[in-house]
Amino acid sequence: MQEDLKKYIRDVKDFPKEGIVFKDITTLLKEPKAIKATIDQLYEKAKDLKIDKVVAIESRGFMFGVMLAEKLGAGFVPIRKPKKLPADVFRQEYQLEYGSDIIEMHKDAITAGENILLHDDVLATGGTAKAACQLIEQAKGNIVQVSFLIELGFLEGKKMIEKYPIEALMRY
Ligand code: AMP
Repeated sequence: MQEDLKKYIRDVKDFPKEGIVFKDITTLLKEPKAIKATIDQLYEKAKDLKIDKVVAIESRGFMFGVMLAEKLGAGFVPIRKPKKLPADVFRQEYQLEYGSDIIEMHKDAITAGENILLHDDVLATGGTAKAACQLIEQAKGNIVQVSFLIELGFLEGKKMIEKYPIEALMRY
């Protein structure tokens, strides 16, 4: 039977600001059998997709993103906040509730036509994932799956990235 991962997630109320219930994955990461169950479940969903690169979003996407890349025999590509990556980058701006933000990816991280799996910990409003997909499109990657540990269904973030296959291990 599949391990129920929800029991490892800690809800932290009013973090980082009032009204937000933060889904804390550090309580999952500290349990060896939860790490294994999580990576096994992500792998099962992607193992037949011939993934060339796993692309993950700073910083909580990196943990399982790297593990998944290793298990799939794929490469790993980090998407980061501005001015963190040292070489030439593609940039993508996106809207937040108040203001805007930018994410970046190295221009030479993806070769045109490669099969890409995008991974992050939480799908909330979907703005970050959409911007990450736009970065991968700039590099002419072929997005074959967007995977999350957690989907917050009530925020309807899926609508932002509905043209791609989306997977999540836990839904709230
Ligand atoms: P969004 O662009 O609204 O989908 O937000 C996605 C990003 O914000 C992800 O990288 C998440 O790590 C983080 N995030 C948003 N809401 C939450 C939440 N309730 N708990 C944990 N992380 C969150």
